[in-house]
Order: sequence, then structure tokens, then C-alpha cells
Amino acid sequence: MASQYEDMTPDAVMESFKLQPLHIRSINSLFDDSDTAINHLRRGMNETSDVAGDLEELAQSDLRDDLEACDKNLIDFENIIKCQQDVLSMLQEAVLSNDGNAGDGTAFYDQSLRAALSDYSKKTAAEKYHKHEKYAEFKEIVWNVSHPNEPMPNLDTNEEDDDLVVSATRRSLKCPITQEWLEHPLTSKLCKHTFSSNAIKALIRRNGGTDVECPVPGCRQLLTLSVFYDDTLMERLVAQAKERGETNEDEFHDVE
Ligand SMILES: [Zn+2]
Repeated sequence: MASQYEDMTPDAVMESFKLQPLHIRSINSLFDDSDTAINHLRRGMNETSDVAGDLEELAQSDLRDDLEACDKNLIDFENIIKCQQDVLSMLQEAVLSNDGNAGDGTAFYDQSLRAALSDYSKKTAAEKYHKHEKYAEFKEIVWNVSHPNEPMPNLDTNEEDDDLVVSATRRSLKCPITQEWLEHPLTSKLCKHTFSSNAIKALIRRNGGTDVECPVPGCRQLLTLSVFYDDTLMERLVAQAKERGETNEDEFHDVE
């Protein structure tokens, strides 16, 4: 501890303590911890979706509804953590800008977090959950049990949000490159087209290794590996279709 505190009582030290830019690094480690927590929550969301699909098959609708409530709880927890992360960023900015507003950080943190959580609590269910990809996955997995070949209705009845239209559209479970079942599906964030991991990686490699024009006819999006995410939903839909004994010769409709 710095010498300026030597002759002070612990209370006086706490009283005069001010967050300094040198403390910012410790705040950064909190971000890593909270990212880990979010990953755990998301794994929990995958589990609730899987089990809810099984319960739907067993016609256990009460238990399925309980799990939906759990899924929403997990999403709420995730948002609380995200609010904490936002407030920590604000705290870092306040400390770095050296305007003295942050003090020892505790009052700043408490007040800002209360405001952020209060904003979240005022959101509608549609704002909190319908836009959340894991909630959409949950609904789609349950929907597919009893409506295997029908598109899921939009979760937003007022249909103001175009983003969600994707889940209302039956997506092809075949890789456009291999014409086989998708394997380890990767979906492009830019055009929402999905490919088997090995196939798209090989195509990018053959094209020089950095990027390739989207191989879906009519889509000219330039794709690099960094725009893809692991599409666990598509992976599960393929598994479900295989379980139903569908063959990959069956026709599916592509996303617009
Ligand atoms: Zn595309």
C-alpha cells in the first residue's frame, strides 16, 4: 500500500480511497469472470431447449412450460450480468477521464446498476426474450416436434422486428456446397446462409485462404471465416430430422 496511507486508520483509508487508472486492470479481470458466467448460462439455455423438446414429444406440456420459465430466468440473469458489464465500462471511462466523479467507485457502481436494472425491468416480454437467439431456439425446437415441416409463426405478433423473420422461415438442412446434411453447421452473420464447416472452410482455402463470395446462388456476400458462428440450432434441427427418418433428398425452402 502506498505510503500516504501509513498513519491512517483503515476507515480513513477507505474514506479517502479513489479509483485510479492503475486500478483499471483489476476491473478488466471482472469482465473475463462475467463472460465465463454468461457462457455457463448459455449452456444452461441449450439444455433447457433440448429437454423441453423431449418433454414436448412426451406431451408433458406443464413441465415444458416450467422449463420455458427457467429459460426466461436464465435470460434475465444474462441481462443482469450484461448490465453489470455496462456499468463497469462506464466506471472505467469515468476513472480514465479523471473527472473525479467515480470516487471509490461503489456509489457510482450501485447507482448506475440500479438505473440499468430498472430500465431492463421496464422492457416488455417481447423486448426481453423474443429477440434473444436462445429463446427463439427454445421455441423453434419445441415447435418442430409437432410441426416438423411448418415454419414457426413469428414470436412477435406485431411483426415489427425483421430480424426474427429468419426463424419463421424453414431453412434448408442441406449444405448448399455438398448437398448433404449439414455437418457442424456454420452460419454467416451477414447473409444467414449456412454451410457444413469443412465444406465452407475448404472453399475459402481454395479461393486463396481469406474470403470467398457466398456460394448460394444469387447471394453475392463476401464471406471470411470470421463472419461465421457455430449454428447449434441448425445442428439440432438436422439431428431431429434424421431422427424422424427424413432423408436429405427431402425438399426444404431456403431463407429469403
Ligand atoms: Zn449468402
